[in-house]
Amino acid sequence: MTFHITTCPHCEKRNRVRGAATGRPRCANCGRWLPWIADADDGDFDEVVRTASLPVLVDVWATWCGPCRVVSPVLEQLATERSGELKLVKVDVDRAPAVGQRFAVQAVPTLLVVDRDGEVLGRRSGAAPVAALRDWLDHTLSGDRTTEARA
Ligand SMILES: [Zn+2]
Repeated sequence: MTFHITTCPHCEKRNRVRGAATGRPRCANCGRWLPWIADADDGDFDEVVRTASLPVLVDVWATWCGPCRVVSPVLEQLATERSGELKLVKVDVDRAPAVGQRFAVQAVPTLLVVDRDGEVLGRRSGAAPVAALRDWLDHTLSGDRTTEARA
């Protein structure tokens, strides 16, 4: 069972937030929604994603990747804006080769929006400013996806 230490954006209390859990995390001190940021690897990825009752944004990153360090605080900002509405799952690709393979990750960072069955609703790679990522997330989560017509 892994925990992520999350500082409450409302009262600055540090909370231990479980990665694999149902519901939505609330601050133990002030009771407001906390940003949900979880770490996952090959061992617990499915559990962390399947237990989520919220849309999941997966950040596939690597310790040696410069753009990953740029995009990471941007994603945490989005997770903070969407406390109670979004779960951010961070996957270090070197510790999760099977996850990387499963989603055919060619480059880091790769961002995936997945549902609880692990189906990919949206994906993009590379760093981007917060406004661009917010638009992408909104578009992906609105379900407004254009699909190819069948003949
Ligand atoms: Zn709080």
